[in-house]
Amino acid sequence: MPYELITIPCLSDNYAYLLRDGTSGKVALIDVPEAAPIKAALAERDWTLDQVWITHHHDDHVQGLGDVLVDYPATVVGARADAHRLPDLDVAVAEGDRVTLGDLEAEVFDVSGHTIGHVAFYVAGAKVCFTADSLMALGCGRLFEGKPAQMWESMQKLMALPHDTVICSGHEYTASNAKFALTVDPQNAALISRSNDITAARAEGKPTVPSLLSTELATNPFLRPADAGIRATLGMQTASDAEVFAEIRKRKDNF
Ligand code: ZN
Ligand code: FE
Repeated sequence: MPYELITIPCLSDNYAYLLRDGTSGKVALIDVPEAAPIKAALAERDWTLDQVWITHHHDDHVQGLGDVLVDYPATVVGARADAHRLPDLDVAVAEGDRVTLGDLEAEVFDVSGHTIGHVAFYVAGAKVCFTADSLMALGCGRLFEGKPAQMWESMQKLMALPHDTVICSGHEYTASNAKFALTVDPQNAALISRSNDITAARAEGKPTVPSLLSTELATNPFLRPADAGIRATLGMQTASDAEVFAEIRKRKDNF
Protein backbone atom coordinates (compact mmCIF):
# COMPACT_ATOMS: atom_id res chain seq x y z
CA MET A 1 0.00 0.00 0.00
CA PRO A 2 1.52 3.38 -0.93
CA TYR A 3 2.04 5.75 1.97
CA GLU A 4 4.39 8.46 3.18
CA LEU A 5 5.72 8.98 6.70
CA ILE A 6 7.22 12.35 7.66
CA THR A 7 9.11 12.98 10.92
CA ILE A 8 8.81 16.57 12.19
CA PRO A 9 11.22 17.82 14.88
CA CYS A 10 9.40 20.13 17.33
CA LEU A 11 10.42 22.12 20.41
CA SER A 12 13.84 21.08 21.78
CA ASP A 13 13.55 17.29 21.52
CA ASN A 14 9.98 16.29 20.52
CA TYR A 15 8.79 14.59 17.35
CA ALA A 16 5.45 14.80 15.55
CA TYR A 17 4.66 12.62 12.55
CA LEU A 18 2.56 12.86 9.40
CA LEU A 19 1.23 9.68 7.81
CA ARG A 20 -0.30 10.04 4.34
CA ASP A 21 -2.31 7.35 2.62
CA GLY A 22 -1.15 7.46 -0.99
CA THR A 23 -4.38 6.14 -2.47
CA SER A 24 -6.80 8.66 -0.93
CA GLY A 25 -4.34 11.45 -0.10
CA LYS A 26 -5.68 11.50 3.46
CA VAL A 27 -3.20 12.65 6.11
CA ALA A 28 -3.00 11.98 9.85
CA LEU A 29 -0.89 14.03 12.25
CA ILE A 30 0.37 12.15 15.29
CA ASP A 31 0.83 14.43 18.32
CA VAL A 32 1.09 18.20 18.27
CA PRO A 33 4.04 19.48 20.29
CA GLU A 34 4.31 22.75 18.32
CA ALA A 35 2.15 24.20 15.54
CA ALA A 36 4.66 26.10 13.38
CA PRO A 37 6.88 23.22 12.15
CA ILE A 38 3.80 21.04 11.57
CA LYS A 39 2.00 23.70 9.54
CA ALA A 40 5.21 24.29 7.58
CA ALA A 41 5.53 20.56 6.81
CA LEU A 42 1.93 20.45 5.54
CA ALA A 43 2.26 23.65 3.52
CA GLU A 44 5.53 22.58 1.93
CA ARG A 45 3.81 19.47 0.52
CA ASP A 46 0.50 21.17 -0.19
CA TRP A 47 -1.22 18.57 2.00
CA THR A 48 -4.52 18.96 3.82
CA LEU A 49 -5.02 17.36 7.22
CA ASP A 50 -7.80 14.87 7.90
CA GLN A 51 -7.09 13.52 11.36
CA VAL A 52 -5.03 14.17 14.47
CA TRP A 53 -4.16 11.17 16.61
CA ILE A 54 -3.19 12.07 20.17
CA THR A 55 -1.11 9.57 22.19
CA HIS A 56 -1.38 11.07 25.68
CA HIS A 57 -2.30 14.18 27.61
CA HIS A 58 1.10 15.75 28.32
CA ASP A 59 1.45 19.35 27.11
CA ASP A 60 4.43 18.58 24.90
CA HIS A 61 2.19 16.27 22.83
CA VAL A 62 -0.98 18.39 22.58
CA GLN A 63 -0.18 22.07 23.08
CA GLY A 64 -0.03 23.01 19.37
CA LEU A 65 -3.42 21.47 18.56
CA GLY A 66 -5.65 24.57 18.72
CA ASP A 67 -3.28 26.52 16.50
CA VAL A 68 -3.01 23.72 13.90
CA LEU A 69 -6.80 23.26 13.76
CA VAL A 70 -7.33 26.95 12.92
CA ASP A 71 -5.56 26.43 9.58
CA TYR A 72 -6.15 22.71 9.18
CA PRO A 73 -9.54 21.59 10.52
CA ALA A 74 -9.36 17.85 11.23
CA THR A 75 -10.96 15.05 13.21
CA VAL A 76 -9.27 14.71 16.60
CA VAL A 77 -8.80 11.15 17.91
CA GLY A 78 -7.63 10.27 21.43
CA ALA A 79 -8.12 7.87 24.33
CA ARG A 80 -11.58 7.68 25.85
CA ALA A 81 -9.92 7.01 29.22
CA ASP A 82 -8.17 10.37 28.96
CA ALA A 83 -10.98 12.42 27.42
CA HIS A 84 -11.36 14.47 30.62
CA ARG A 85 -7.82 15.83 30.33
CA LEU A 86 -7.28 15.86 26.56
CA PRO A 87 -8.34 18.65 24.20
CA ASP A 88 -11.89 18.11 22.85
CA LEU A 89 -12.04 14.79 21.00
CA ASP A 90 -14.19 14.03 17.96
CA VAL A 91 -13.47 10.32 18.25
CA ALA A 92 -12.72 8.65 21.61
CA VAL A 93 -10.94 5.28 21.32
CA ALA A 94 -9.87 2.38 23.49
CA GLU A 95 -7.72 -0.72 23.05
CA GLY A 96 -8.76 -2.77 20.03
CA ASP A 97 -10.56 0.08 18.27
CA ARG A 98 -9.68 0.81 14.67
CA VAL A 99 -9.26 4.19 13.01
CA THR A 100 -9.52 4.44 9.22
CA LEU A 101 -7.31 6.74 7.14
CA GLY A 102 -8.21 6.15 3.50
CA ASP A 103 -6.99 2.66 2.69
CA LEU A 104 -4.93 2.49 5.88
CA GLU A 105 -6.23 1.40 9.24
CA ALA A 106 -4.74 2.02 12.68
CA GLU A 107 -5.29 -0.34 15.58
CA VAL A 108 -5.34 1.24 19.02
CA PHE A 109 -3.25 -0.26 21.84
CA ASP A 110 -3.48 0.80 25.47
CA VAL A 111 0.16 1.27 26.46
CA SER A 112 -0.34 2.78 29.90
CA GLY A 113 2.67 3.28 32.15
CA HIS A 114 4.18 6.70 31.33
CA THR A 115 0.60 7.92 31.85
CA ILE A 116 -2.59 5.94 32.45
CA GLY A 117 -4.50 6.09 29.18
CA HIS A 118 -1.49 6.48 26.89
CA VAL A 119 -2.34 4.85 23.56
CA ALA A 120 -0.26 3.69 20.59
CA PHE A 121 -1.53 3.62 16.99
CA TYR A 122 -0.38 0.61 14.94
CA VAL A 123 -0.87 0.85 11.18
CA ALA A 124 -0.19 -2.61 9.72
CA GLY A 125 -0.55 -1.38 6.11
CA ALA A 126 2.31 1.06 6.63
CA LYS A 127 4.33 -1.18 9.01
CA VAL A 128 4.44 1.65 11.52
CA CYS A 129 3.52 2.10 15.18
CA PHE A 130 3.26 5.49 16.87
CA THR A 131 4.41 4.81 20.42
CA ALA A 132 5.27 8.34 21.68
CA ASP A 133 6.42 8.02 25.31
CA SER A 134 5.72 4.30 25.79
CA LEU A 135 8.35 2.39 23.80
CA MET A 136 11.08 4.84 22.81
CA ALA A 137 14.33 4.44 20.89
CA LEU A 138 16.56 2.52 23.33
CA GLY A 139 14.25 3.43 26.19
CA CYS A 140 10.75 3.72 27.54
CA GLY A 141 8.87 6.63 29.05
CA ARG A 142 9.33 7.52 32.70
CA LEU A 143 6.55 6.13 34.91
CA PHE A 144 4.69 9.27 35.94
CA GLU A 145 1.39 7.49 36.56
CA GLY A 146 1.67 3.74 36.00
CA LYS A 147 3.50 0.94 37.79
CA PRO A 148 6.43 -0.99 36.29
CA ALA A 149 4.33 -4.15 35.84
CA GLN A 150 1.82 -2.15 33.80
CA MET A 151 4.52 -0.66 31.55
CA TRP A 152 6.02 -4.12 31.09
CA GLU A 153 2.60 -5.37 29.94
CA SER A 154 2.47 -2.47 27.47
CA MET A 155 5.97 -3.31 26.20
CA GLN A 156 4.93 -6.92 25.62
CA LYS A 157 2.02 -5.81 23.42
CA LEU A 158 4.44 -3.86 21.23
CA MET A 159 7.03 -6.67 21.22
CA ALA A 160 4.38 -8.91 19.62
CA LEU A 161 4.11 -6.69 16.52
CA PRO A 162 5.92 -7.77 13.32
CA HIS A 163 9.63 -7.15 13.84
CA ASP A 164 9.91 -4.96 10.74
CA THR A 165 7.52 -2.41 12.27
CA VAL A 166 8.86 1.15 12.32
CA ILE A 167 8.63 2.53 15.87
CA CYS A 168 7.80 6.25 15.88
CA SER A 169 8.52 7.50 19.39
CA GLY A 170 8.05 10.96 20.84
CA HIS A 171 11.49 12.30 21.76
CA GLU A 172 15.14 12.53 20.78
CA TYR A 173 16.44 10.90 23.97
CA THR A 174 18.41 8.15 22.28
CA ALA A 175 21.96 9.32 23.04
CA SER A 176 21.37 9.45 26.81
CA ASN A 177 19.32 6.25 26.62
CA ALA A 178 22.33 4.56 24.98
CA LYS A 179 24.66 5.61 27.79
CA PHE A 180 22.30 4.06 30.31
CA ALA A 181 21.64 0.92 28.24
CA LEU A 182 25.38 0.17 28.15
CA THR A 183 25.47 0.10 31.97
CA VAL A 184 22.99 -2.79 32.17
CA ASP A 185 23.91 -4.59 28.92
CA PRO A 186 27.63 -3.85 28.45
CA GLN A 187 28.52 -7.00 26.46
CA ASN A 188 25.78 -6.59 23.83
CA ALA A 189 27.63 -6.15 20.51
CA ALA A 190 24.49 -4.91 18.73
CA LEU A 191 24.00 -2.26 21.42
CA ILE A 192 27.64 -1.14 21.28
CA SER A 193 27.41 -0.80 17.52
CA ARG A 194 24.07 1.07 17.69
CA SER A 195 25.46 3.37 20.35
CA ASN A 196 28.33 4.30 18.00
CA ASP A 197 25.85 4.94 15.18
CA ILE A 198 23.80 7.19 17.48
CA THR A 199 26.84 9.24 18.48
CA ALA A 200 27.70 9.72 14.79
CA ALA A 201 24.10 10.63 13.82
CA ARG A 202 23.76 13.17 16.61
CA ALA A 203 27.13 14.73 15.78
CA GLU A 204 25.66 15.44 12.34
CA GLY A 205 22.39 16.69 13.87
CA LYS A 206 20.44 13.75 12.41
CA PRO A 207 17.42 12.25 14.21
CA THR A 208 17.77 8.75 15.67
CA VAL A 209 14.06 8.02 15.36
CA PRO A 210 12.09 6.31 14.04
CA SER A 211 13.72 2.94 14.63
CA LEU A 212 12.87 -0.64 13.73
CA LEU A 213 11.25 -2.93 16.29
CA SER A 214 13.86 -5.57 15.42
CA THR A 215 16.60 -3.10 16.42
CA GLU A 216 14.80 -2.31 19.68
CA LEU A 217 14.38 -6.01 20.46
CA ALA A 218 18.12 -6.53 20.01
CA THR A 219 19.33 -3.47 21.91
CA ASN A 220 16.68 -1.79 24.10
CA PRO A 221 17.14 -3.04 27.69
CA PHE A 222 13.46 -2.36 28.47
CA LEU A 223 12.51 -5.09 25.97
CA ARG A 224 15.23 -7.46 27.18
CA PRO A 225 14.57 -8.36 30.85
CA ALA A 226 14.73 -12.04 29.84
CA ASP A 227 18.29 -11.63 28.53
CA ALA A 228 20.89 -13.70 30.41
CA GLY A 229 23.59 -11.04 30.09
CA ILE A 230 21.41 -8.29 31.56
CA ARG A 231 20.25 -10.63 34.35
CA ALA A 232 23.87 -11.50 35.16
CA THR A 233 24.83 -7.80 35.27
CA LEU A 234 21.93 -7.09 37.63
CA GLY A 235 22.43 -10.27 39.70
CA MET A 236 18.78 -11.21 39.03
CA GLN A 237 19.11 -14.61 37.35
CA THR A 238 15.99 -16.09 38.96
CA ALA A 239 13.69 -13.03 39.03
CA SER A 240 10.62 -12.66 36.81
CA ASP A 241 10.81 -10.57 33.64
CA ALA A 242 8.55 -7.99 35.30
CA GLU A 243 10.92 -7.74 38.27
CA VAL A 244 13.95 -7.30 36.03
CA PHE A 245 12.06 -4.68 33.98
CA ALA A 246 11.21 -2.80 37.21
CA GLU A 247 14.85 -2.85 38.31
CA ILE A 248 16.03 -1.52 34.94
CA ARG A 249 13.40 1.27 35.11
CA LYS A 250 14.48 2.15 38.67
CA ARG A 251 18.15 2.31 37.68
CA LYS A 252 17.29 4.52 34.71
CA ASP A 253 15.39 6.92 37.00
CA ASN A 254 18.51 7.24 39.15
CA PHE A 255 21.00 7.35 36.27
ZN1 ZN B 1 4.73 12.43 27.98
FE1 FE C 1 6.67 13.63 25.91
